[in-house]
Amino acid sequence: MELVNLKDPQDQASFAQAVKRGLGKQQGLYFPTNIPKLDNIDDVLAMPFVERSITVLRALIGDELNNGELEQIVETAFAFGAPVEKVTDDVYTLELFHGPTLAFKDFGGRFMAQTLSGISEGQPVTILTATSGDTGAAVAHAFHGIDNINVVILFPKGKISALQEKLFTTLGGNIHTVAIESDFDACQALVKTAFDDPDVREGLHLNSANSINISRLLAQVCYYFEAMSQLPADKRDQLVVSVPSGNFGNLTAGMIAKAMGLPIKRFIAATNLNDTVPRYLKTGEWAPNATVATMSNAMDVSQPNNWPRIEALIEQGYIDKGCLKGEMVDEEYTQLAMRQLAQLGYTSEPHAAIAYRAVSHDLEPGEIGLFLGTAHPAKFRETVENVLGNPISLPKALADVAGEDSLAIDLPASYDALKQHMISLLKA
Ligand SMILES: *Cc1c(COP(=O)(O)O)cnc(C)c1O
Repeated sequence: MELVNLKDPQDQASFAQAVKRGLGKQQGLYFPTNIPKLDNIDDVLAMPFVERSITVLRALIGDELNNGELEQIVETAFAFGAPVEKVTDDVYTLELFHGPTLAFKDFGGRFMAQTLSGISEGQPVTILTATSGDTGAAVAHAFHGIDNINVVILFPKGKISALQEKLFTTLGGNIHTVAIESDFDACQALVKTAFDDPDVREGLHLNSANSINISRLLAQVCYYFEAMSQLPADKRDQLVVSVPSGNFGNLTAGMIAKAMGLPIKRFIAATNLNDTVPRYLKTGEWAPNATVATMSNAMDVSQPNNWPRIEALIEQGYIDKGCLKGEMVDEEYTQLAMRQLAQLGYTSEPHAAIAYRAVSHDLEPGEIGLFLGTAHPAKFRETVENVLGNPISLPKALADVAGEDSLAIDLPASYDALKQHMISLLKA
């Protein structure tokens, strides 16, 4: 696989290099120089999930992971399913929350951890990542206990749910967590600064595990194929996929699946009040506002860092601009959508509810809608119970950590403070 930095065409990378580097020069994103088209889509769709995912990833990655390596990585990483549930006559949901941390980020996180551990061959690596909630848990669990890999996770203090925080701040060992006294964008900015600082980047062998890492994105392509394989075959070319979006990694992966020939008709980029993209798609003006806190906190992002890849998919002719629509769903309509789903017999949480709201209002005759269920409702228990007025039970993964103490330390949003902390922690 060949990738190129979207900010610097001279900066090229193999798959392994792009996975190790995370970001390219000038904080540019790596993007495939060619996205292969699968010409036997029906055969691919007929395969079981793991075998199909290996086929899709083999087409993208090529022969870099050889001799059973890719097979082993996919089998370990994708050890749980992604079932499609029917919600109404023409609307379905893809449940991506059956992994260990109950959110879709388990797919990308686990695939990346397995890949990185395979390609770094015992060299020390420090993963530095910012999380608005679910990335932290997925990355922490995926890397916990892997030799020679240390993980530092920054999260906005007090801005993610207590249970969500417990999922990654209680592990200890090679997982180090830092509560930053600011918002997610500030955490993301600190990560970017660290990558620009050679002392830290080279000294600690930095790697980023957030949704900008190409391995996470490629892993996510696989479950769009899985969704299509479970939907009625006669409706396959009428599928509208609604993606609850924050950093836009999930949507980027869906578009790569379409570029590979998966016959998704069109996409809806569904956001909360942090609606930089929906406004941009309407007005053509990129005008991020200050980030606001919402119930769907994993989507509280006003400067989505995967957007340049979506622009590239459109500019390079893989995706027609008309295939993407933006939709903002405010707090009131998010709650309304959660209640409507409950009346339909489906308990959901704010992120998926936003995508449901966006697609159920937008379907044209003959189309079917699919919204991505990005997290288990119990991960947002307080919000869900408040909105629906009913208690919901905790799955085992959450019940187990609920009573444990957080091991996170607090730091101000200062790069010097973070740098000192990391060096004292990891240079020992
Ligand atoms: C991360 C996350 C999102 C947003 O996904 P992006 O790939 O960043 O757009 C949506 N819902 C949940 C529950 C998440 O954790």
